Amino acid sequence: MTIVCDVLVIGGGGAALRAAIAAHELDPQLDVLLVTKGILGQGGVTATACSDRMAFHATLDTTDPGGPDAWRYHADDIYRIGGQVSDADLAVVLARNAGEAFAYLDRLGVPWARRPDGTVDQFVTDGSAYARACYTGPYTANHIEQALLRRLAELPIRVLDKTMVAELLQDPSRGQVVGAALVSQSTGQVEVVAAKAVILATGGAGQVFAVNVFPEDCTGDGYALAYRAGAELVNLEFIQIGLSSLATKLACSGSMMRALPRLVNDQEEEFLFCYMPPGTAPATMYGILFAKGSSWPVSYREPSHIIDIAVDAERARGRRVFLDYSRNPLMLFEPGADLGTLAEQVRRFYTQTEKIDLNDPAQSGTPLARLLAINWPSVEWLAERGIDLRRGDRVEIAPAIQHFQGGVKIRTQAETTVPGLYAAGEVAGGQHGANRPGGNALLDGQVFGRIAGESAARYAKRATIGGVPDQEQAERAVRALLVSDGLPAAEVRRAVQEAMTRACGVYRTEEGLRRLNEKLGELESCGVRPDEDLAAALEAVNILTVARLVARAAYVRDESRGPHLRFHQGSRVPIPRDDERWNRYVVLWRGREGPQWSIREPVRPMPPDVAAPSCIL
Ligand SMILES: Cc1cc2nc3c(=O)[nH]c(=O)nc-3n(C[C@H](O)[C@H](O)[C@H](O)COP(=O)(O)OP(=O)(O)OC[C@H]3O[C@@H](n4cnc5c(N)ncnc54)[C@H](O)[C@@H]3O)c2cc1C
Repeated sequence: MTIVCDVLVIGGGGAALRAAIAAHELDPQLDVLLVTKGILGQGGVTATACSDRMAFHATLDTTDPGGPDAWRYHADDIYRIGGQVSDADLAVVLARNAGEAFAYLDRLGVPWARRPDGTVDQFVTDGSAYARACYTGPYTANHIEQALLRRLAELPIRVLDKTMVAELLQDPSRGQVVGAALVSQSTGQVEVVAAKAVILATGGAGQVFAVNVFPEDCTGDGYALAYRAGAELVNLEFIQIGLSSLATKLACSGSMMRALPRLVNDQEEEFLFCYMPPGTAPATMYGILFAKGSSWPVSYREPSHIIDIAVDAERARGRRVFLDYSRNPLMLFEPGADLGTLAEQVRRFYTQTEKIDLNDPAQSGTPLARLLAINWPSVEWLAERGIDLRRGDRVEIAPAIQHFQGGVKIRTQAETTVPGLYAAGEVAGGQHGANRPGGNALLDGQVFGRIAGESAARYAKRATIGGVPDQEQAERAVRALLVSDGLPAAEVRRAVQEAMTRACGVYRTEEGLRRLNEKLGELESCGVRPDEDLAAALEAVNILTVARLVARAAYVRDESRGPHLRFHQGSRVPIPRDDERWNRYVVLWRGREGPQWSIREPVRPMPPDVAAPSCIL
């Protein structure tokens, strides 16, 4: 029997919850249904991720520099760090609505860190000129999820969890989305839902890569659903990648690098020198290692990307790589060594900011002593998870996927290019370019989550649907995704993940990407066979589809920008950024022969005297 609703929200993270609540709050008469994989509140990134200090980026009344135009500085930061390949008006929407998004969460009881005078404590994150990052601690995202779940529970919003949205159903004449085919993760049964408007809030696609810090359910379904429905996607080649602990998924940023550990491979080689230009002085090299602490994601504009390249290259030749805090790196702090070999900024950080005596071995004699002096909770956190640095354990690291900057192309009302389909959160694209300021992803989910909810609600109030989709239509749509003599789902998932990590991670070349695209094309022509676990088979289909889109976009962009580093075969120096040709974004959509693309001009910044769009109602 067809389940009927006005607004269908797909996902259970911060963006989905905010969207569902906003749709209901706009018009309580509307019937809002939220469908999510797994148990609501236990899946996706918002509910599960943590880091040493998770950031929510917002311009508040108390944020410097203040004044009525404070939001402009925030919008400028988003656009600038985005490398001029995002839509400038979407950056304005994010910045102008940030204060309201923060205030809403504050009213729901998110326990923001405050200064003794009661004002919100904010710090500077990657890519920001000013301190805008609000936080609660390591679990900011989880606190946001819990606050939204509490609000959701107060409202008559229906929830269907342990259910995967397998395919969007469309009116064949107009392409308008009119519902979805669902697959129960408990029974494998196909169900059908009719909806006047649909919001995608399915998060990113970390599971497309073998090494990632995403939970298992982030298989990029939303990108694949939108692509198959004919929507445009943008900026898919820009994926945040950073050095992370393989065992714990902890991003090894900040103090983990500033403590200046040894980077060592499983042959006990300190390999960094091999990747530095000949003649690099130790002080310069360790200055770069130190700088990695404040530039965690790979970025073309940060010289510290050489460390990601080195770790990636070591792993590509079959070596495992570790951070070792038990001994000092070669030529650093060795007995009798001249501390003047340390770059000045490192010396200043330790002696002035952290008040550490570099002549006192107890405070600075080893990387562990330094890490304990500047961030002892990280040592405890790792020990609780079985990595005891005091015992001499090492942290095995690799470049891991953390965030998809691009996604389903949206405009200012969170609308996609398919009628009746909206997108918000990490699945959406265009609001961020090649990079994003730290903390802006959580903000994005709240700002565009609300906008998507309200836009979908307005659309649903006036939409007419030609015909309600039925069970047969849903079953046909699901069957069409699988091939009876195709490859097993687990095999496809593994093959895609390994191929993507090899050719589309830190080190991307024309030849490697060409072969990757061929390999993915071969897998696609075999197809995925139906599995006892139907949802797992459909996830493998989606992983393959998203891989094809990302690999295509990465192939097309033959320059370096943001986290997208392109190399000539054999070279370890990225091909330079080329603004003349490439201050543009790659837009993809479904063509008859597979992914089609065009290279387009983004929406450029408007002159300061032109009224900027605000979505505050
Ligand atoms: C370790 C880590 C640290 C981070 N730190 C920060 C930070 O400090 N600041 C910041 O701003 N950002 C940070 N990010 C990024 C940010 O947390 C995410 O971008 C954001 O939480 C994504 O929210 P979302 O609602 O879009 O998706 P998610 O929270 O991932 O939710 C997606 C939901 O969709 C569901 N779903 C997926 N497919 C389907 C389907 N087919 N059918 C039904 N349901 C489906 C999933 O089960 C899940 O519930 C971090 C990310 C990671 C991994």
